[in-house]
Amino acid sequence: MRMYDLIGKKKRGGELTDEEIAFFVDGYTRGEIPDYQASAFCMAVCFRGMTARECAALTERMMLSGDTVDLSALSHTADKHSTGGVGDLTSLVTAPIAAAGGLSVAKMSGRGLGHTGGTVDKLESIPGFRTALTEEEFLSQVKRVGLAVVGQTANLAPADKKLYALRDVTDTVDSIPLIASSIMSKKLAAGAESVVLDVKYGSGAFMKTPEDAEALARTMTEIGRTHGRKMAALVTSMDFPLAPRIGNTLEVEEAVKILRGEDPAGYGIRTVAVRLAGEMLSLSLGIGPQEGTARAEELLASGKAYAKFLEWIEAQGGDISYIEENRFERAPHTRTVVSPRSGFIVRTDTEAVGMTACLLGAGRMKKEDVPDLTAGLTLEFIPCGYAEKGQPLAVLYTSDPARLDEAEKVFLSALTFSEEGAEPAPLIRKVLR
Ligand code: URA
Repeated sequence: MRMYDLIGKKKRGGELTDEEIAFFVDGYTRGEIPDYQASAFCMAVCFRGMTARECAALTERMMLSGDTVDLSALSHTADKHSTGGVGDLTSLVTAPIAAAGGLSVAKMSGRGLGHTGGTVDKLESIPGFRTALTEEEFLSQVKRVGLAVVGQTANLAPADKKLYALRDVTDTVDSIPLIASSIMSKKLAAGAESVVLDVKYGSGAFMKTPEDAEALARTMTEIGRTHGRKMAALVTSMDFPLAPRIGNTLEVEEAVKILRGEDPAGYGIRTVAVRLAGEMLSLSLGIGPQEGTARAEELLASGKAYAKFLEWIEAQGGDISYIEENRFERAPHTRTVVSPRSGFIVRTDTEAVGMTACLLGAGRMKKEDVPDLTAGLTLEFIPCGYAEKGQPLAVLYTSDPARLDEAEKVFLSALTFSEEGAEPAPLIRKVLR
């Protein structure tokens, strides 16, 4: 078999066999197929797509390229995944709700890159919190507490790790079969029997339209079901950041507020976090989705989810007095950004808002960067709300004051003002079950 022939077959729109897909994945992982051929292949997939069978085969082969986690000793294992957003701290709220509801949440999370944040960075802003556990520690914590979150092990779907890095620099990320197989190879390897996905669309998301997000959600749920997993997906809007605090420590602070019963009016975070937990409870316990959501609401309102959050943080070495005493640290240099005009803020370029946090030091421009966990911004306006000229719209936090001017410029460029009021687009566009 020759890689050259596989590229040509896909270029002409042909359907690859399972053996051909295995040849590509195994050969590329072992370093026998060079980057230039793998790039040409990915570009051909971008233009020609893949059938459901090809996509399932690609996912399976990437999943099998490394370790798979055996969670069979646990009951009701459940996972969630978001395709990435700004102010998207849902895992910090959803996971303790689901665990308080009796599920076993054994979760592997990622780090932030570019304008999107990552759960592992957020958790590492809590003093003492360990995101690297041995497999034994990980499983025994899930058994005891119902919840553990760790960084991805080096050997989880290594084929995807290599291929994703290549796609990132060859403009071949935005292909539904490539994204679906990339995400699902890791989710399947991580072992949970049920998985709920949050697939974002809009500015700041991989998928720009709800139709594309729905197609991605369908492809991923079908792959999961083919592998015997219970699957559901929400299709949600990223036309505004999900929460009014963006940055690592700031997002932990926001999660704690929600778990203590506050609702950041106008922002979608609480609604999406509860709905995701409701879908997880529904899938795992075999109850209806409405009952699942009602249970998730009750676990949040009763304080059981907050108690579970504290138990989880402590189990992983985190200092819970830091949380209970609200000792959340913010970077020392601040600037209040005021509105340059009066009008309704009807839309944000959410990617640019995320980039503002990144410029302030909260994120990574490249994988090797070390983020400043105390940097970020708070939003002082309500989505689609009215702002008077001169009214504060955001407060920026950074450890490097030289970054403030550019961050302010990027932030202001992200806002769309209008004389006319508008309703925010529906937050949860669709639920696929
Ligand atoms: N996240 C992933 O893990 N893979 C992709 O291809 C896109 C987003």
